[in-house]
Amino acid sequence: MSRLVDTHAHLHDTAFDGDRAAVLARARAAGVAAFLTIGTDVPTSEAAVALAQVEADVYAAVGIHPHDAATADDAALARIAELARAPKVVAIGELGLDYYRDLSPRDVQRTALVAQLRLARTVGKPVLLHCREAHADLLELCATEDVATGGGILHCFSGDLAVAHRGLDLGLLISIAGPVTYPSARRLAEVVRALPLDRLVVETDCPYLPPQPWRGQRNEPAYLPATAARVAELLGRPAATVADATTANAARLLGLPLAPESAGAPR
Ligand SMILES: [Zn+2]
Ligand SMILES: [Zn+2]
Repeated sequence: MSRLVDTHAHLHDTAFDGDRAAVLARARAAGVAAFLTIGTDVPTSEAAVALAQVEADVYAAVGIHPHDAATADDAALARIAELARAPKVVAIGELGLDYYRDLSPRDVQRTALVAQLRLARTVGKPVLLHCREAHADLLELCATEDVATGGGILHCFSGDLAVAHRGLDLGLLISIAGPVTYPSARRLAEVVRALPLDRLVVETDCPYLPPQPWRGQRNEPAYLPATAARVAELLGRPAATVADATTANAARLLGLPLAPESAGAPR
């Protein structure tokens, strides 16, 4: 069985409070070798760090989501900076811009994004970027703040091919989530077909955005193979090749200490 890394999950979310151990067990049985659980504000970043402290294969990211950008005052950013140095915190995120839902004023979103891009550079960690209908501004700020130094991931990618190429030019990886399995996702399918395998990772964004067979239900990392299989189909590559590549890409960027696979076939 191929190993996958879920590069974007919210496993500390209260949606999993009733059965988190079973959710993790199902995912491990489905081949998920590591999980990145990602904060969206100070309390959820604290919860992410706490979960990573008790689950060996769970790593954490800390940050303030654009929806919550209005909470990113000096005290909150100082706490995120402190959490960023905790054990098993491998990235800053999620941070970004969301002009689709506009839950925080856009200038406030941009200020919070820049502050966290600078924090990531200070602590030498990659960023996990959330972006909806704001790609021009996001990529411009990423370029200005030299995101290429620490690298990062455009999570749940929803842009077009031109945006993908700009992201790749900035040194970012592109993460594909459950929507790639939706029959309506024609533009995303076109983007995936054009992506280089060495710049691609996969994610669930659970508990949100389940792949097609589970739409309307809570998403969980055990469903990640369905997304990876669709990516492999679009690329015309074997599922194992895509699993190996995306896992290696994630491990490299995030510094995950994944053990080499045991006694596989030589190649
Ligand atoms: Zn997001
Ligand atoms: Zn998310």
